[in-house]
Amino acid sequence: MTPPSKIRNIAIIAHVDHGKTTLVDSLLRASGNFRENQAIAERAMDSMDLEKEKGITIKAKNTSVHWGENIINIVDTPGHADFGGEVERVMKMVDGVMLVVDAYEGPQAQTRFVLKKAMQQGIKPIVFINKMDRPHIKPGEVHDKVLELLMELEATEEQFNAPFVYGSARALWVSDTPEGEQKDMTFLLEKIVEHIPAPKAELEGSFEMLVSNIDWDNFVGRVAIGKVTRGTVKMGDKVFLQGKQPGDKPTPIKVTKVFQYTTLTTSDSVEGGAGDIVGISGFEDVDIGQTVTGAADAPVLPFVAIDPPTIVMQFAV
Ligand code: GDP
Repeated sequence: MTPPSKIRNIAIIAHVDHGKTTLVDSLLRASGNFRENQAIAERAMDSMDLEKEKGITIKAKNTSVHWGENIINIVDTPGHADFGGEVERVMKMVDGVMLVVDAYEGPQAQTRFVLKKAMQQGIKPIVFINKMDRPHIKPGEVHDKVLELLMELEATEEQFNAPFVYGSARALWVSDTPEGEQKDMTFLLEKIVEHIPAPKAELEGSFEMLVSNIDWDNFVGRVAIGKVTRGTVKMGDKVFLQGKQPGDKPTPIKVTKVFQYTTLTTSDSVEGGAGDIVGISGFEDVDIGQTVTGAADAPVLPFVAIDPPTIVMQFAV
């Protein structure tokens, strides 16, 4: 099992069309995790179009990249008609964000909205100025605009000192500076491992996970998704779903499956360990904000009520 020190949980933030999908594809390719046949069937992060069209809640899509001994869990954030509560919950699972900004357009409304949530949660960004292969780009200006935005959003000194990487997710190169030497995309994976902190989680001790999202699997039903903050969980374990109010009786649950995010989709995993983002099934009923623990009498993380969807006004930065 991968120890927390080798795990990185990162959310990708971008205004629509700035290249989030292309970037994730390119990182999967760079890491060697990308299987062509699967790629053709479905681009990793872009399978929600149908749901978008139907107007169903946009769910975060997730994938993960194995890089050396590290696992980088990439959590997508809704960037469309934004759902504030969902973005906040994603920010609770991750320890860093990759802010993707078009080198021509600069930061836009959705960049600002999601970045603000990240700043509020004290999360560290890496800034990726994308589409550097395009003509008429203004990377210097875009760099300054991002810094202005960080300042306006009251970034801490650490957040303000975000590393900037320039490149083209489509042409598969990145660089430290707008005119610098072009390197392959693994440079960006290295940056993530170097700059994004490992999750705060304890491998030893009784299992604990805060439910941050809920998914549905046709075979096992409800899947509660969250970051494991302590211990491990595997299929067949008896765990407890803690109530929403202090004093509520915990519900015993037999874990029917543990899901882990892998390259393009979820897959069954043998064990979900501390620091990793996993999904577990076996619940009759479960709500976002509840805690799942290994012991019935475990201390419970505070219940976080679900925010109603927030529709964000479009405004220029
Ligand atoms: P998303 O909406 O943020 O997921 O954006 P996509 O990844 O779908 O990209 C939007 C459009 O920009 C697509 O037509 C991409 O091919 C294009 N694109 C993405 N990255 C680059 C890049 O590095 N250079 C250029 N020229 N186009 C890019």
